[in-house]
Amino acid sequence: MSYPRYVSSRNRAADPVSFETALLAGLAPDGGLYLPTAIPALPENWRAAPSLAELGTAVLSRWLGGEVPEGALRAAVTAALDFPVPLVRLGDDLWVLELFHGPTLSFKDFGARLMARLMGHFLTRRGERRIVLVATSGDTGSAVADGFAGQPNITVVIIYPQGLVSPVQERQLIVARPGVHAFKVAGTFDDCQELVKAAFMDTALADLPLSSANSINIGRLLPQSLYYLWAARHFADPITFCVPSGNLGNLTGGVLAQLMGLPVKRFIAAHNANDYFPKFLRGLAEPFAFAPTIATLSNAMDVGAPSNFERLYQLQSDLPSRIWATSVHDQTMLARLRWCYERFGYLLCPHTSVGLEAIERYRQESGDLTPTVLLATAHPAKFPEVVQRTLGLTAPPDPALTQLWQQPVSVTPLEADPAALRTVLRDLATR
Ligand SMILES: *Cc1c(COP(=O)(O)O)cnc(C)c1O
Repeated sequence: MSYPRYVSSRNRAADPVSFETALLAGLAPDGGLYLPTAIPALPENWRAAPSLAELGTAVLSRWLGGEVPEGALRAAVTAALDFPVPLVRLGDDLWVLELFHGPTLSFKDFGARLMARLMGHFLTRRGERRIVLVATSGDTGSAVADGFAGQPNITVVIIYPQGLVSPVQERQLIVARPGVHAFKVAGTFDDCQELVKAAFMDTALADLPLSSANSINIGRLLPQSLYYLWAARHFADPITFCVPSGNLGNLTGGVLAQLMGLPVKRFIAAHNANDYFPKFLRGLAEPFAFAPTIATLSNAMDVGAPSNFERLYQLQSDLPSRIWATSVHDQTMLARLRWCYERFGYLLCPHTSVGLEAIERYRQESGDLTPTVLLATAHPAKFPEVVQRTLGLTAPPDPALTQLWQQPVSVTPLEADPAALRTVLRDLATR
């Protein structure tokens, strides 16, 4: 059997690299994103897998079998995906796939936990160390911090926009963890992402063992294809998936599943006021003509320049016919959150509420009532302010969150200046 290799989205004629190289580097040397040279087919009996871990092992061995022995892969997948992924029926032809039962209560735990273990596997074998550098708009940082913490060969540096993440999200980022360093920047998420990109391109840092764990890393995308399959095995016919989207990493995972052979009727990309992708699909924005970021209540989707667009655009040439997208503003999101609670007694997080509104719009516009799975990307208890303000009630506390407030924290302010980050990284590298 042959396995995919990886090329930069900016130079697909270049010599392909291994998964190990792409995973450890994050970005390609020319600043592009790694794309697979081929997409493996799903294993024939994927619908019969008894658990998500078994399904994950079978599917990922099609991708990584040439580089990770089956036993090591099974161990990594089983340890990473050790939490439930319930599919909850909400109404007629409408299901919610709860992706928020991992330790940091968002879907980011899937990618981060598995990526940490795969990276650990390769680094242990090489006897090498890495500094993992992450810009986060909220949930990535905590998932990466939690997933990578305590690995002896990995130091984690997290950079987040001060005041633009919720108090709970911030607490999850700055809880003291072994090997993890959190920095707050006075700026937007895009500023943070630019800092990280600058560090990777910085020739003065070329000797440091930097790695990325943002959703640009191929190691986070592959695990994000697995829960689409896990949900779809309940249905005989193709279904529609609605994906609350920002950087488009989650959606790219779904498109990978489709390219592997999963029949999907439609993807619905649900965006907040940051509407580049819906505009692009409607022919109202040129490829890569991104816009500045707008702050919203669904802040993990506050992305003006979705980094995975570059990858998605090349993976799937026919995006407008496969993906329907819309942009939902805060007031409409809040009304939908209230409606859902009153109608179904079901509490949504602000991101997932954007998704539910998008489904209703899609059904109105298209008349297509195909059974639809809404990906619930975060636990509502992560956003107690929004829940309180909208419904006048306290979100049921989650034990994983309550115990955060008893733990020590550690965070340092950082200027939005590449030189400041350079100093920090140099210092950490010598420790
Ligand atoms: C990260 C995140 C999103 C957006 O996912 P992308 O892969 O960036 O499109 C949506 N909802 C929540 C809760 C998130 O944490």
